Amino acid sequence: MLLKYGRLKKIHIKLLIVVFILILYVLVYLKLFNNDISGFNLPLKFENEFEAILGPYEAKIIEKLGNNGEPAYLWGDEALEGEKALKKFALNTILSDRMPLDRKLKDPRNTKCKDFQYDTKLKATVIIIFYNELLSVILRTIWSVILQSPEQNLQEIILVDDSSTDENLKGLLDYYITTRLKDKKVKIIHLKNRLGLIRARLQGARLATGDVMIFLDAHCEATKGWIEPLLARIEEEKSAVLVPIIDVIEANTLAYSTNGDTTYQVGGFSWSGHFTWINIQDEADKKKLTPVKSPTMAGGLFAIDRKFFWNIGSYDEQMDGWGGENLEMSFRIWQCGGRLETVPCSRVGHIFRDFHPYTFPNNKDTHGINTARLAHVWMDDYKRFFFMYQPGLENNPVVGDLTHRKQLRSKLRCKSFKWYLENIYPEKFVPDENVYAYGQVKTPFELCLDDLQLPEDKIGPLGLYNCHPYTAMSQFFSLSSKGELRKENVCAEVFSSKMVQLTECHGHKRDQYWVFHKNGTIYHPTSKKCLSSENIDIGKGVVVDKCKNTVYQKWTFTNINATAYN
Ligand code: UDP
Ligand code: MN
Repeated sequence: MLLKYGRLKKIHIKLLIVVFILILYVLVYLKLFNNDISGFNLPLKFENEFEAILGPYEAKIIEKLGNNGEPAYLWGDEALEGEKALKKFALNTILSDRMPLDRKLKDPRNTKCKDFQYDTKLKATVIIIFYNELLSVILRTIWSVILQSPEQNLQEIILVDDSSTDENLKGLLDYYITTRLKDKKVKIIHLKNRLGLIRARLQGARLATGDVMIFLDAHCEATKGWIEPLLARIEEEKSAVLVPIIDVIEANTLAYSTNGDTTYQVGGFSWSGHFTWINIQDEADKKKLTPVKSPTMAGGLFAIDRKFFWNIGSYDEQMDGWGGENLEMSFRIWQCGGRLETVPCSRVGHIFRDFHPYTFPNNKDTHGINTARLAHVWMDDYKRFFFMYQPGLENNPVVGDLTHRKQLRSKLRCKSFKWYLENIYPEKFVPDENVYAYGQVKTPFELCLDDLQLPEDKIGPLGLYNCHPYTAMSQFFSLSSKGELRKENVCAEVFSSKMVQLTECHGHKRDQYWVFHKNGTIYHPTSKKCLSSENIDIGKGVVVDKCKNTVYQKWTFTNINATAYN
């Protein structure tokens, strides 16, 4: 009996130990993978493991590599590995791992910016979201923010891990924060499911406590004096949403390159729903060092008053994945009473990658779907142009329910898209407004002028193709009030006295000037020739030829204003 009792006791104790260990494991697991802000004490076992990874990694960093933002290079095998990495990740990951995380950069600002005194007490929460970004690149982003922001202006840095699958971005990153960034006000949340960049930023915003929120991509480097002018402007104007000048960090050499200290561009958009960089139109604005009006923003880097962010409708939470949210926010800010500005004395570098190193769940075209959402909500009738590019999305259920966003628009009493175009972006070309003629441009043989799928940023021949039975953007041309035969940004121009090229519109008539005659000819006064389809194969470029009044020189536009003829 005694013996039996003793055995039972032993079994009980064993059982208790097993249960205890199990509970310990569960607790550790929960701590590591919860959505809470970190700051926990890691068990010694993990600590040693992480230290064993971090130590050698830190030892391999090459002092002064990439110092002052100079282009950096590696040698031998590592150089070759770097080239491979560039092809795979659109980033030289090998080089980044060797470069100091707190590298020094030159002060890229216009020298006159240094004379400004900003005396702001506002505090910023910097929100950095990431999905499978390189650890060293994320850490360099964090270090640059810490080193370049006055203590009094930095409330906290919130990292949002959009459920990365890269192991380094879980325990190791947390460990780095608890050990190397102790007392630096860095917090991290790991999302349980991948939410896409829009909802990931929203998660960060919900935790923010600073007066201002500054969103940054996870591959940026802030430079000297970057934060003060942003905060100072918001202090003076709560409804101003601000973008720094975004400099280029080269994906291969990590060189910090600028366009000089005076020239920079602001944001525009194309009717296909893409963000574009555009030149500042107003001469006075070009010379200013104070904030300059920007019709749109690129989206990855911006500062906004925290309360204003929520009042003006934060983000469209039903936008998935990546893309479109920046134009949605830009239009909304302007139309609903805010301002969007570029701040020339604030500069932040961003690694521009040639492609996205990550994939999207279900291969969905989230950029297209998100843009369809914003087109329906914010663009009024002007959405017709976007849907000419994306006819399949116009009445497609994948676009989702828009009730809440439309309600928001009426609740905030926002202005029309026409108002936005006329007042904020008057230089934007509207293909069917204030033009002589527009639509398809046909020959008597059912052939049409066609851009032959010319990419938006390229130049190429003004082509000829079978007319489509529907209005496709590739066959949509306008005869502008300036006499340009044009698409959105490209104009037909004569070169080599015969060929006709679609090239960037320069607005000075000359070789881009055309006159439409009542007899159907499209006349080019500079060369004294007429647009001709004679002997042009389908899929090739049209030419100008001596005016002969033949069928090959007859053209009709789908829509003509009476004033078109000369
Ligand atoms: N990102 C994310 N979840 C995603 C896709 C992207 O958190 O599903 C992050 C990404 O890591 C980056 C930011 O969102 O920090 C913006 O993405 P990216 O830099 O690829 O966009 P781009 O600058 O090319 O427009
Ligand atoms: Mn980016």
